[in-house]
Amino acid sequence: MSSQRDVVDYALQRRALLADVACGRTSLGEACDAHPYLLLAAKHYGDPTPTPCPVCDKRHQRHVHYVYGACLGRAAGQAKSRGELADLARTHDEFDVYVVEVCPDCGWNHLIRSFVLGHSGGETLSAADG
Ligand SMILES: [Zn+2]
Repeated sequence: MSSQRDVVDYALQRRALLADVACGRTSLGEACDAHPYLLLAAKHYGDPTPTPCPVCDKRHQRHVHYVYGACLGRAAGQAKSRGELADLARTHDEFDVYVVEVCPDCGWNHLIRSFVLGHSGGETLSAADG
């Protein structure tokens, strides 16, 4: 997805939370509180990632992409697969994508990145853009 714009990285917040967990300021139960819906979304729409879970070190983490934006209508707030994201980006105006990493083993979950996809101000994506 080469058309990602306005990328925001949440690595600092993630590191801060992990540091809090390591020193006991935040309990594991608080940090690893993945909602059942989030776990389901990870299972069905999640992107496997080779990065091990920062909490339990298992390699089953998935990245779930949530989309938000008025132009998406009923799709707003839903988890989307990579293929669906590409389709939405081709057919819709700008919308926000939030990437959450989820560990199905321990329940760790954290927002890692957000970016903007879709057509901006009359720009059309050509077939060569990707
Ligand atoms: Zn884990």
